[in-house]
Amino acid sequence: MDSLGTKQQTVGQTNMDTTHAYFQTELERRRTRLEAAAIANVSHHSLRQLLENVDEALARLHAGTFGICETCHDSIEADRLLCNPLLRFCLDHLSTEEQRALERDLTLAARIQRGLLPREDWSAENWQARYHYEPASQVSGDYFDLIEGDDSFLFLLGDVSGKGVAASMLMSHLHATFRSLAGQNLPLGKLVGQANRLFCESTTAGQYATLVVGRAWHDGRVEYASAGHLPLLHVGRGKISSRRATGVPLGMFCTADFPVCSLSLSPGDSLFLFTDGLSENFDIKGDEYGLRRVESLIATHAASAPEDMLAACLKEIRDFSAGTKRTDDLTLLVMRHVS
Ligand SMILES: [Zn+2]
Repeated sequence: MDSLGTKQQTVGQTNMDTTHAYFQTELERRRTRLEAAAIANVSHHSLRQLLENVDEALARLHAGTFGICETCHDSIEADRLLCNPLLRFCLDHLSTEEQRALERDLTLAARIQRGLLPREDWSAENWQARYHYEPASQVSGDYFDLIEGDDSFLFLLGDVSGKGVAASMLMSHLHATFRSLAGQNLPLGKLVGQANRLFCESTTAGQYATLVVGRAWHDGRVEYASAGHLPLLHVGRGKISSRRATGVPLGMFCTADFPVCSLSLSPGDSLFLFTDGLSENFDIKGDEYGLRRVESLIATHAASAPEDMLAACLKEIRDFSAGTKRTDDLTLLVMRHVS
């Protein structure tokens, strides 16, 4: 999902002096630590190398070239620079060695993220769930979880602002938040409200998430709150009903309320949830797939087994957007009440 304009963390002109002073202090502090360590380990080459790198960064700071990519002369990403003030290149101009290190990090992050997902053959009493989780690149900003309770379970599916690693970190933050709140057996509206406050307090302006949080009981009753997310589809016998969002996205207002709606599923009925990787696909002429097509696609496959419904969606979307590059993470969930 695209983020709001305010999200980009930039080192603006107005606070340039503060930033300069910050990096100067930070680099000098590192220099003192390195010197102390180098004295204790006189022969250690890597320490001397680091000391040289810190001195070079201080020299760049004095020369006014600190934070400028040495290849393209554009600014190096501010958030990367805050993590590592020794950087000399922007993301587009990493050395081969740096690129390899980044790829290794991403592969590991992707493995960790996969590990957060529920089992592929997940089921609960009288419920069967099947999902498809597919990042646009290595890691995804989509959030999906199923959390079992005593007589019910929670289902959560959403989409975090931004893309790539930053979005995937927010996604794992949400995962941890809901996992830790789930054990408290809060009423659904309170659960979402509390997660919203925690999310708000620990993210910067413009970082938010749209998501559906629901609770399903063994007898087919369901309640849900949708924080600005795409519609949830109730697929009944030959009939589809589309349930719109009930509140604003999570993280947008710390004190927001999240109204809860309820519905009841008959045996054989399903709920279908998805992220914009499905509805916001474009064909080669630039036409968007759109919500109406999603609804009629799901209606066509209403009687199919959950895995067949997913397969039909994937085939449809691949046919529709053939010849274009997919840029959004995709998550699909079918939950069927089986008896
Ligand atoms: Zn560059």
